[in-house]
Amino acid sequence: MIVDAHVHRYPSEVYQDPVGFAHSQDEKRWLSLVSPEDRPSIQGWADRNKMITDMDQAGVDKAVLLGWYWERPETCSLQNAWHLEWTRQDPDRFIAFAAAHPLANDNGLEELKAARDAGFRGMGEIHPVAQGFSMRDPRWLAMVEFAIESNWPINFHVNEPLAKPLPGRRETPFEDFHWLAETYPELKIILAHWGGLLPFHELNRDCRKAFANVWYDVAASPLLYDKKVFRAVVDVVGPDKILYGSDYPLRLYPSSQKEPDFTTFLDEIQNSGLTIDELAKVLGENLALLID
Ligand SMILES: [Zn+2]
Repeated sequence: MIVDAHVHRYPSEVYQDPVGFAHSQDEKRWLSLVSPEDRPSIQGWADRNKMITDMDQAGVDKAVLLGWYWERPETCSLQNAWHLEWTRQDPDRFIAFAAAHPLANDNGLEELKAARDAGFRGMGEIHPVAQGFSMRDPRWLAMVEFAIESNWPINFHVNEPLAKPLPGRRETPFEDFHWLAETYPELKIILAHWGGLLPFHELNRDCRKAFANVWYDVAASPLLYDKKVFRAVVDVVGPDKILYGSDYPLRLYPSSQKEPDFTTFLDEIQNSGLTIDELAKVLGENLALLID
């Protein structure tokens, strides 16, 4: 069973006119990432048919639809409505996580409760700095407590502190995640994009203890890291904490790939030096346990 823990999907009115959509929703940061003015975009787009065909071709059984870290609560609500529709349409293929914004007009939690009742299984991606709130904001911590009581993992977008700064990118301080994990040890935390290499801090015994309930997804890895990262991180944190995720429909190999797919990255992972048992965990077993 292969489950992709990190994909994004948009309706046709969004991908046919991302600029118009971004302006209508006042989501300029999203626009600067999916359709930058100063460089070619690596964002690909996929409708339902392409996505499911690409999943079938690569043997991907299910995919987790992640929300974007929208700057406005209204856009989060819109995305949750899309996710509801798509998981109802293809319940065997898609698992929904909720987009969330704690600065919503007091119904942020109500919306999450409705999502939980509708079968959503987690929250994310979340990016406090980009979304304009503090990790310590009590309104956000109410959402964290909701996630704990719902047994929901929260997926956070993480940038590597030393990565080349790009327009639209905002910092994701490791200290915030450390504080959150220490303050809420019962919370299941997924740090996306290899946690910006934070897992190497688990070589520090105190951090290892604090990060006991932290998982790392490998989304967008080919754009960010040498493929040695698979063996290296598994050697540090073990195979149980790593989740396969692609960031589809991002084009992970922009120099050779015109259209996004799942196959190329999965081939790379199969040849990354992990054992058969480790691969089984990373490609699906870990996520199944996590959202159980
Ligand atoms: Zn991300």
